[in-house]
Amino acid sequence: MPGRVLIIDPIATNRILLKVRLAASNYRVLQASALSEGVSLAGSAMPDLIVIDHNLIAADVTALGDLTDAHPCPIVVLTPPEGLVARAQMLAAGAADCLQKPINDALLLARLRSLMRFETTRRETGLRDDTSRALGLAEDGVGFAPQSHVSVVTATPAQSQNWARQLRRETSAQVSAHSLDDVLDFGEGDAVPDLFLLALSDDEEPLNLQAITELRSRAATRSAAIIAVTPQDAPVTAAMALDLGADDVTSCPFDAAEVGLRITTQLRHKHRADHLRATVQHGLQAAVTDPLTGLSNRRYALAHLKQIAERAAAEGAPYAVMILDIDRFKLVNDSYGHAAGDRVLRALSSCLSDNLRSVDMVARLGGEEFVIALPDTGEAEARIVAERLRQLVCDMPVVIDAKTTLRVSVSIGLTIALPEATDCTDPTDLLEQADTALYGAKDNGRNQVIMSPNAA
Ligand code: GH3
Ligand code: MG
Ligand code: MG
Repeated sequence: MPGRVLIIDPIATNRILLKVRLAASNYRVLQASALSEGVSLAGSAMPDLIVIDHNLIAADVTALGDLTDAHPCPIVVLTPPEGLVARAQMLAAGAADCLQKPINDALLLARLRSLMRFETTRRETGLRDDTSRALGLAEDGVGFAPQSHVSVVTATPAQSQNWARQLRRETSAQVSAHSLDDVLDFGEGDAVPDLFLLALSDDEEPLNLQAITELRSRAATRSAAIIAVTPQDAPVTAAMALDLGADDVTSCPFDAAEVGLRITTQLRHKHRADHLRATVQHGLQAAVTDPLTGLSNRRYALAHLKQIAERAAAEGAPYAVMILDIDRFKLVNDSYGHAAGDRVLRALSSCLSDNLRSVDMVARLGGEEFVIALPDTGEAEARIVAERLRQLVCDMPVVIDAKTTLRVSVSIGLTIALPEATDCTDPTDLLEQADTALYGAKDNGRNQVIMSPNAA
């Protein structure tokens, strides 16, 4: 479903012609003949995009703000074929783009596709950001924008330098001139610009449309913003640029004020996208990490145990699972306070992770209970590891303050999954076995390792 477009144009034939073109590409079209009608329809029907005739806002461009207030979505202004229309003024007033009449179908549709694509991503990522924030996984707001870097790439060094010089007056970003070879040479470790301004040519010159594909296909430059500047009257080139992945296009003659506005908008989008990407990564990490100890949490442990089980089954190797629980931990809290208890949990976590192999998994199941999985480990070896850990914990001093040093002990329930025992490949069974063994260790006086009778 391509989306819904609201056309606001006083001339019925214009609306109908445009409607036919859009409907042919499966857009649903809404129509208004006056600005006030358009504003109210935008508010009630919530289109994905608005196309408005320049005449309706020529006298007062702030009318674009009324539309945005009624319903925030991209607005494309259709400008007259002749006469100087201040594109920069339209963009500054909130238009996403201006298209000159007679409208080139290819460019119009490419522009709509590009704006719809952006709108969909913006809504999806916005939703994810809201969820991350609701879960407490992300901080509010996008935060301080870092210094951005814009790279100007044209056919000649002189032209690149000239455009860069003009743009420095229009943007707070750092602007440099590069050749196409320079930018295609950027590697992942390099300080890659946030935005490329590419001057495209119509012919087979070096700076053809392929430059966009090249930038989009390289890891280093994939997430940079791209604004393409096409020759004058080259709507097909502009349409192709958008479809190949340019975020925005404009045409010559080069107008630094207008391009500066486009740069500001694209840098804002880029910065927001970067922030969201970081938030999602951080959120994923937070979702599987125990905040107190920094160990993996139960959710991760269960998923990872499954992986260990599958690999063990495929390789025909045994693996060991143990559950470890601090003895009389409630007493620590009751006697020394919750903060002291937390300190014990953290010290124990470091002790465990420092004394296991990197392939082993240690996670906090909850409270003062931990799970450890040892891939490729049989009974004899697992017993040795469990006993060693138990002893290490006994010997571990936990300094609470200048006068207080604590020692704790742990009870451990241990079980082994043997490759020939098919029922042992389900990690939940193993956790149950280890848990039962752990209860045995508690009953038996604590501070000891008990092997599950089901194991081996
Ligand atoms: P047992 O030897 O039978 O395991 O006795 P226990 O006292 O360790 O077991 P119990 O289940 O009675 O108490 C566990 C305590 O662990 C109670 C709870 O307050 C404490 N606890 C759980 N999570 C945390 C935590 O994150 N920080 C602190 N400080 N204490 C915690
Ligand atoms: Mg306990
Ligand atoms: Mg417990």
